[in-house]
Amino acid sequence: MSVPIYPGRGTGRTSLVTGGAGFVGSHLVEHLLDLGDEVVVLDDLSTGSARNLAGVADNPRLTMIHGSILNPTTVGQAMRSCDRVFHLAAAVGVKLIVEQPLRGLRINIHGTENVLTAAIEHQASVLLVSTSEVYGKNTADRLREDSDRVLGDPLLSRWTYAGAKGIDEAFAKAYCDQEGLDVSIVRLFNTVGPRQTGRYGMVLPNLVGQALRNQPLTVFGDGRQTRCFSAVEDVVPAMVAIERDPRARGEAYNLGGAREISILDLAHEIIRTLDSRSTVELVPYERAYAPGFEDMRRRVPDNTKAHALVGYEPHTSLTSTIMRVAADLLSRERLGSDAMPLAGAATFRGVV
Ligand code: UDP
Repeated sequence: MSVPIYPGRGTGRTSLVTGGAGFVGSHLVEHLLDLGDEVVVLDDLSTGSARNLAGVADNPRLTMIHGSILNPTTVGQAMRSCDRVFHLAAAVGVKLIVEQPLRGLRINIHGTENVLTAAIEHQASVLLVSTSEVYGKNTADRLREDSDRVLGDPLLSRWTYAGAKGIDEAFAKAYCDQEGLDVSIVRLFNTVGPRQTGRYGMVLPNLVGQALRNQPLTVFGDGRQTRCFSAVEDVVPAMVAIERDPRARGEAYNLGGAREISILDLAHEIIRTLDSRSTVELVPYERAYAPGFEDMRRRVPDNTKAHALVGYEPHTSLTSTIMRVAADLLSRERLGSDAMPLAGAATFRGVV
């Protein structure tokens, strides 16, 4: 096992970003580097990609470690010189969770506990990145942080993600109350933007890719289920501001989009925005996922709490996000498959 050498501290803080090669993680890493932080990325590159960090690979304040949060030794090494941790590493994507529930449970529960206990040992603060999935089937007009959770049968793999993330939050709170861990929690709603991949089922990059190829847009169910999409560039600065704020300790904050839209309307908006010749195809859930699959009919955040704390306000329009995602997909298509490391892209060391 090679031990990574950390760069000397700059004027900023030293942040560990688990899952830093993922979609949201890579945007966060760029933002933290812009703020002047030293940044250590720990990623197992299972769903993330070194290519996501290609733009900052040469930054001397960035260290990248290829390893898993399931290995406590790796987590401890990654955290050695860090004073705060952004914990994003997780098995995500409904499709992935339905297909590989055991992997998701292990990473999302055991991996997270490894990160939390290492943070206590190293006296680092933590921002736990959770999800709106924890609210489950609650179709409230606006989901507040203290809204009830409405989950289906725990034996259905579909609910294991919400179950595991709920346990993560409970662990974080218990470590905060009983062991003094400085932790705060954000619940991301459907976050979208460049570098998100449709490979694990996420609707926006999936539909944008289909529209660019003039293929039918696959809308699951009746398409009348709704979501509020938020742009990654609105969400990332709010995550950092919440982590910094001592009032956030032991608290959870929704970070979601402002506009509720049905998936059917989203499909039409994508076709219009990209001037595509695609049509829309309704695909039954049992064909899209698995027999007995239950979708969330509606998921609308109440962002009041994050607004009051750090002034969070989603302002990027869906149209501009669609255009940026399309440009990103086109550039990646030109450069080759997502999984293929680019020549000159970020290189990971410390393979564990
Ligand atoms: N969806 C869809 N077509 C796709 C992928 C997803 O209609 O190609 C639907 C999915 O069933 C859900 C919504 O889009 O109702 C959002 O799915 P996603 O997996 O992006 O996020 P979720 O909100 O389910 O976590």
